[in-house]
Amino acid sequence: MSATANVPPKSPLAALPSVERLLRLEPLPELAERHGHALVLEAARAELQALREAGGEVPAPEALAHGAAARLAGWLRPSLRRVINLTGTVLHTNLGRAPLPEAAIEAMAAAARGNVNLEYDVASGRRGDRDSHLDAWLCRLTGAEAAIVVNNNAAAVLLILNTLANRRKVAVSRGELIEIGGAFRMPDVMARAGCRLLEVGTTNRTHLKDFEQATADGAALLMKVHTSNYVVQGFTATVPESELAALAHRHGLPFVIDLGSGTLVDLRRWGLPYEPTVAETLAGGADLVSFSGDKLLGGPQAGIVVGRRELVARLKRNPLKRAMRVDKLTIAALGAILPLYADPGRLAEAVPTLRHLARPQAEIRALAERLAPEVVQRLAGRAAVTVVPCVSEIGSGALPTEALASAAFALRPTGGSLNALGRALRGLEPPVLGRQHAGALLLDLRCLDDETQFLTALGGLRRP
Ligand SMILES: *Cc1c(COP(=O)(O)O)cnc(C)c1O
Repeated sequence: MSATANVPPKSPLAALPSVERLLRLEPLPELAERHGHALVLEAARAELQALREAGGEVPAPEALAHGAAARLAGWLRPSLRRVINLTGTVLHTNLGRAPLPEAAIEAMAAAARGNVNLEYDVASGRRGDRDSHLDAWLCRLTGAEAAIVVNNNAAAVLLILNTLANRRKVAVSRGELIEIGGAFRMPDVMARAGCRLLEVGTTNRTHLKDFEQATADGAALLMKVHTSNYVVQGFTATVPESELAALAHRHGLPFVIDLGSGTLVDLRRWGLPYEPTVAETLAGGADLVSFSGDKLLGGPQAGIVVGRRELVARLKRNPLKRAMRVDKLTIAALGAILPLYADPGRLAEAVPTLRHLARPQAEIRALAERLAPEVVQRLAGRAAVTVVPCVSEIGSGALPTEALASAAFALRPTGGSLNALGRALRGLEPPVLGRQHAGALLLDLRCLDDETQFLTALGGLRRP
């Protein structure tokens, strides 16, 4: 059919109502009252403009008014929305990583509501230091002399490199020249920090003598990067941190470690694989250790650096620190989370990330069995539902090769495609996100906290 076949002899656009007329029609006057005249006017104009561009039949003015209202509703809906993470990846960078502990949420809300002593010493009435709020807890939990917190771990690494080795050489093993999420590549970060990268050893084997050569070649800093999102296996050799530290210190050089995830507790207490803690890493001789706030720590996005007082003081004096500093909300959240680590026995209860990681498969499976009848009913006519074992992953590069035994609903479409089923679930409020695996859509229940919200969301599925 040609495009002109639909067009009646007289241009239908002449029948478009004026924007003034539209604004008098329901529900626009009430919306103007609530959201302001200008925004409703913009929505009405956009509705008319869209119609002029599309051509064709002109709907009734009442329908146009509702069209404008729908447009406005779309603009007003927050872009950042809650989603239900049933992907099986606990620390999902694209889904905002760690959900915060209740105590942190309360502390953030309280700090958000009013003024705080962010950089103000209440006792003396003088200017204070924003890092002072977290110093004591970070030092207590890691054994460090001093600490500093910046926007994220990428910023922490940049700050460390620029402060300690601007225009100088930094020695890193070729096996640790990592890329994280595409944009963070160690060689590029080095260049931007003003450092010259001194590649040491080979991809699979690096020896102490390689680092000795690097010090002879003028390295100003020895660095170790936690290979957080891959492992080098087979014929491999790395230099123990204590030996690297000793070598650095013999030459009067600092030794720093980018730990990536950085856990403050031994994860083996929950049957998870061993990951060196920040305290152990410092005890092994590192002068500075950096790690993320929103990975295994289970807190807000932040980059934490702990270590020797004199080096931390130099980081604080770097003008770049000002561009990387955290706000009162981050400090409030971390300030509420760190004390939880004083009592590891209760941590898994209080910190959602650790609770999700520690959740045993049997418990997840029991949850799935319990919810199954209601899930089956809500998906009737759309998908067959079974409870299956599956594997979750920690995510965000933490312990990349470790899989966590879990349980999921496997959804197999009875009509339509797997993609259409995924789209339907993403169209729910809040969107339900799973992952495709072996011809099914898996909803891994490891991270499900609010079952009522989940079942209510599924209730929004319309019959196909
Ligand atoms: C995740 C990670 C980073 C980046 O940390 P962000 O907090 O996401 O900026 C840097 N280095 C390593 C080794 C990491 O695992």
